[in-house]
Amino acid sequence: MTLPVYNRGLVYHKVSAEREWGITTTTPKQFKAQIDLLRHLGFDFTTIADRGTSDNPILITFDDGYSCIREFAAPILHEYDAPATIFAITDYVGKKNSWDYFPEAKQITHMAWTELRELSDLGWEIGSHGSTHKRMIHMSQKMIRKELRESKLELENQLGKEILTFCPPFNAWNSELVYEIEQAGYRSIAISYPLSGLPTWSGSFIPRLGVYLHDNSLMFKGKIITNPFSPLAVFQQQVINHLGDGKILENWLKPAK
Ligand SMILES: [Zn+2]
Repeated sequence: MTLPVYNRGLVYHKVSAEREWGITTTTPKQFKAQIDLLRHLGFDFTTIADRGTSDNPILITFDDGYSCIREFAAPILHEYDAPATIFAITDYVGKKNSWDYFPEAKQITHMAWTELRELSDLGWEIGSHGSTHKRMIHMSQKMIRKELRESKLELENQLGKEILTFCPPFNAWNSELVYEIEQAGYRSIAISYPLSGLPTWSGSFIPRLGVYLHDNSLMFKGKIITNPFSPLAVFQQQVINHLGDGKILENWLKPAK
C-alpha cells in the first residue's frame, strides 16, 4: 500500500462573505468546511514555529493580515482550538491595502496592532511579510535589509515575541534574499510550490499551496493529500502570484493624481 503524501501548508488571503473582485477570497462557509475536513482527517493545527511538537501538523497561514481574518476566520478556528500563522505587512497595519490597488476592487483594511496582539496572545504566530509588500528580489541590498529588519523589529516591539518566520511578497525569492533573511535572524521561510532550486541555509523552508474561491472540496482535498505537487494546483498558484504582480504594475503605470 502506498502511504498518502501530505502537503502541510495552506495559504489563504481573505475569508469573507462579501462579494469582492478576486479569487483569493474564501467564504466563511467554505473555510469552516475545510477546517472541519482537516480535523476529521486527523491533522493537528499548529503554527510554523510550533510544528515540531506535532506528529501530524497542518499549517493554516494567512498572507497580508487582513482584518476579515480576525472577523471571519479566527472565530471558526477558535471553535476547533486551532492556532494559525499570519504574515503581516508592518507599514500597512490598521490601514487600507493601497499597495494592492485595483480600480474595480473595494479596498480592504489590514488588522490593527490590537487585533494582531489579541491573536498572538491566543497562540497564533505572527510572521513578517515585509514592511511594504514590494517584490524584494530587485531591491538594493540596503532596501532588502531595511524591509527584513525593520519589519521584524516592529513586530517584536509591538507583540513582545521573537519573530521567526518570513514570507517573501509574491513568493519572489532567490539565494541572495534567502541569505539576507538568514542574516536578519529568521528561522523559517514560507514559500509556495514548486520547490525547485532551493538554496541551502540554516533554517527551514515551509512549502504551501494556496486555497481559492473556486476550490471545491475535491480540489481542496487534492491540495493536502496524494498530489501536493499536482501540476494544476501549482500552475494555478503561479498564475495568481503573477496576477498580483500585474496589479502592482498597473498601479505604477497609473498617472499621478
Ligand atoms: Zn502578500
